Amino acid sequence: MDKALDSVLVWLRRDLRLDDNAALHRGLTIGRRVWCVFVFDTDILDPLPRRDRRVEFIRDSLAEVDAGLADLGSAGGVRLLVRHGRAVEQITSLAEALGVDAVVASHDDEPAALARDEAVREALRRQGRAFHTVKDHVVFERSELLTQAGAPYGVFTPYKKAWLAKVDDFYLKAYPIARHAAALAPPPAGIEAGVPELAEIGFEATNLQQLQLPSGASGAATLLDQFLQRIDDYDEQRNYPGRRGTSYLSVHLRFGTVSIRRLAREARTRAAAGSTGAASWLSELIWRDFYHQVLHHHPHVVDASFRPAYDRIAWESGALAESRFAAWCEGRTGYPLVDAAMAQINQTGYMHNRLRMVVASFLVKDLGIDWRWGERYFARQLNDYDLAANNGGWQWASSSGCDAQPWFRIFNPTAQSRKFDPDGRFIRRYLPQLAKLPDAALHEPAQAAPAVLAAAGIEIGRDYPAPIVDHAEARQHTLQRYAVVKGAG
Ligand code: FAD
Repeated sequence: MDKALDSVLVWLRRDLRLDDNAALHRGLTIGRRVWCVFVFDTDILDPLPRRDRRVEFIRDSLAEVDAGLADLGSAGGVRLLVRHGRAVEQITSLAEALGVDAVVASHDDEPAALARDEAVREALRRQGRAFHTVKDHVVFERSELLTQAGAPYGVFTPYKKAWLAKVDDFYLKAYPIARHAAALAPPPAGIEAGVPELAEIGFEATNLQQLQLPSGASGAATLLDQFLQRIDDYDEQRNYPGRRGTSYLSVHLRFGTVSIRRLAREARTRAAAGSTGAASWLSELIWRDFYHQVLHHHPHVVDASFRPAYDRIAWESGALAESRFAAWCEGRTGYPLVDAAMAQINQTGYMHNRLRMVVASFLVKDLGIDWRWGERYFARQLNDYDLAANNGGWQWASSSGCDAQPWFRIFNPTAQSRKFDPDGRFIRRYLPQLAKLPDAALHEPAQAAPAVLAAAGIEIGRDYPAPIVDHAEARQHTLQRYAVVKGAG
């Protein structure tokens, strides 16, 4: 094949895999010699605590990419180049040292990433090099799906209908890598290669190894294989946090250790063959695309409500808000399902989707706390933290978002608990101090008869807190608080 460029640097960001990778495919098809780099970007890393599961997940996944490049490259000695520093400086100095004609990367549409990419593009332009970016992370991006009037979709159901009408084998086709891999080049003399240890970039090991969260493309493949055994039951099992009903692939989708096209292909084929579980899972993948296009078209959602009227709501503030927020973060609200969910996110960096909805609703509509506080806490804790999905989820729960839950709909945390963890399997796993309570008392320990509590060895206030708010009263406050949005769109 006649190639346009002598050499290309492929910059991996949220696409940490070698198969079906759009940027790598582009680089390999336009460049005669190709190198791959990942930058541990200090603009992102510096504010993080020194133990962060995501940094460890990325590092481990990169080690797999490094080994995979060595296997793929016919030249021998092919390695991943890894840099640590500000992206703009690291990319431009490496591009200069390698003398490449162009840098290629996949799109990242978060506002901070777009600003970073503009700075990189400008710096490369000054060096006389091109910066190409391509879609990889979603099936449909940006303005690929618009209404007939040419506007972005604001409601999920018609968006999903349009998504399903447009998708075909072309959009889900894998980008072949192996057949172009001969262009992969070993690092020239003097160019450092390989993946640093965590300590070399200033981080420490977390409990990632103890979690059932295998990293890298091989980890994603294992989780996918397991999930495909149970995908047909997804629609029935997905709402129960005590059961292994969902795919647990979110962190892999976040860092691109699995291809969205691969997942959507699996789901679409099975849905077409009649699997209602697969159809329901495909819907969730479409929600992911939906929130990405919301962020693209409405970047104001990063700081403000999608619907401006919702920024008129007066949230709790001062010491009361601070203490309620601390109780929520630390799982001390006295509502077992909420507290168990917060234990799950604090201990593992994951929280089940049903619980994300429950705890978000509880923070906003029971405790009266601004959804942005919860959004920020999730952003720090979640392994799969993704600005578009997290912001979409929080604005859904607070009713301020695009196609959100109506403002007067307020989850009852105890009813949710009885319905979605009926046998208390999830609560007992994360709140072992309540394990001996019978099912009937587990969802509302403070209401249990003294003899029941005594038999389970529990004293309210000592072993488990009393509820920090009364749900019925909190509900009334919330309806008043939200009255300012009445009649607003
Ligand atoms: P599965 O049920 O197996 O779903 C498959 C995939 O579909 C997920 O991995 C995810 O990529 C996507 N998906 C599923 N539900 C949604 C959704 N509602 N919105 C967008 N994508 C979805 N998801 C994130 O990936 N990152 C976040 O930061 C995030 N924050 C959230 C915050 C709140 C308040 C809420 C209510 C939801 C949030 N979600 C977020 C969506 C959802 O909870 C997780 O994607 C899901 O729990 C991950 O588990 P799973 O991979 O087993 O999901």
